[in-house]
Amino acid sequence: MTIRTRFAPSPTGYLHIGGARTALYSWLFARRHEGRFILRIEDTDLERSTPESVAAILEGMAFLNLDYDEGPFYQTQRFDRYREVLSELVAQGHAYYCTCTKAELEERRAAQIARKEKPRYDRRCREAHHGPSADAVVRFKNPLDGQVLVDDAVKGRVVFRNDELDDLIIARSDGTPTYNFTVVVDDMDMEITHVIRGDDHLNNTPRQINMLRALDAKPPAYAHIPMILGEDGARLSKRHGAVSVMQYRDEGYLPEALINYLVRLGWSNGDQEIFTREEMVALFDIKDVHAGAAAINPKKLLWLNQHYIKTLPRTAIAERLRPYLVERGADLAAGPGIEDVVDALRERAKTLVEMAEQALFFYRHEVAVTDPKNQATLAAAPHDALTALVAAFVALPTWTPEAVHAAFEQIAANSGLTFGKLAQPVRIAVTGTSVSPPIDVTCVLLGRDRSIARLKSAIALAFQEGKP
Ligand code: GLU
Repeated sequence: MTIRTRFAPSPTGYLHIGGARTALYSWLFARRHEGRFILRIEDTDLERSTPESVAAILEGMAFLNLDYDEGPFYQTQRFDRYREVLSELVAQGHAYYCTCTKAELEERRAAQIARKEKPRYDRRCREAHHGPSADAVVRFKNPLDGQVLVDDAVKGRVVFRNDELDDLIIARSDGTPTYNFTVVVDDMDMEITHVIRGDDHLNNTPRQINMLRALDAKPPAYAHIPMILGEDGARLSKRHGAVSVMQYRDEGYLPEALINYLVRLGWSNGDQEIFTREEMVALFDIKDVHAGAAAINPKKLLWLNQHYIKTLPRTAIAERLRPYLVERGADLAAGPGIEDVVDALRERAKTLVEMAEQALFFYRHEVAVTDPKNQATLAAAPHDALTALVAAFVALPTWTPEAVHAAFEQIAANSGLTFGKLAQPVRIAVTGTSVSPPIDVTCVLLGRDRSIARLKSAIALAFQEGKP
């Protein structure tokens, strides 16, 4: 049997990390078993679905590199098929037209509540054999007795009594299918073998299983994964920080880190924290997903991000860093190769945003020293030593970290300064800030001409006429 899983988001917002984790688990399970992973956009709620959300979901999937083998399928393009299955169900006596009006339903509901009964549809039209009419809805004839057993891969066995389940509406009076019905038709047609989804859908499962059985389709296996919680144990929401995948990207997180973080939110393999994609695919099993809810852990995500920034090939980081630089106004042609900058900064930056901020001085035409403390350091710097350093820079036969380092050492020694006392004002002059990679590496990457020019203009600014 070929394993077939699907991710079936409703496009009513961005791709949430909970959704991304569901997608990841479905993807991993399919990959692990050399199966197929299908993307289905559940866009039948015309009021809440937007093309922007569809785009955001596709963008999020692409960012996380969760490739799908089939789809995206759009439910709004499958209305003919839903109508077809609907008539089949009606023809076979598994569904019926119901003409009860809203007012009638509400009245009966109020009476049920008054009698302390669980409010539900009283099946009045179940055997009435109404034909289609302008305001009739279609209801599914749920079995009246017996149970539905859901042997959930995560939750274990969950038992639902049929007499607790309503005859749910599967088509509205305007003929449009309802959510539970479209899922059933799609899972059947797409031959889904494993439904992996959030446990907010667990209550829909017995209804869906009953409908699948009515259609003579074998229900898939189910795995309902617990929600993700905030650090405080409350349901995850925006107040806990970033919740959308693209927001994490904007904050400088690598897809590798996010994927690694998400796989561990609810699944583990001993105490292993770092997983390559290949390892995840080899090790992931839906049965090992934890039944208890997992809470977000932003510190761990940051730690993972730092790990991947340090260890991924420099070309991969450079490629990812580029847009963050461009966004911040970097002139990439004016500075060193991004790979070299990555090597210089990868031990110092926890996110791509931090790295881009720290790298900007390489790609700006000018830097300004705005921090008063740095201005003071520059003003108090040894003028003669800085001037001598400029001369040494001009005269260096080669422009390498070693040569630049030697120049610093020599000028410092000649002027009776420590290396640091000379290096720090130079750092401020060439980068505009007080932190950077080692000064020799910084100057070499920046280039001889620009290092000299920045040093000269800082000297001129700091030691204006009238000052010693
Ligand atoms: N469209 C549903 C949602 O976004 C998922 C349905 C399912 O996975 O069965 O919550």
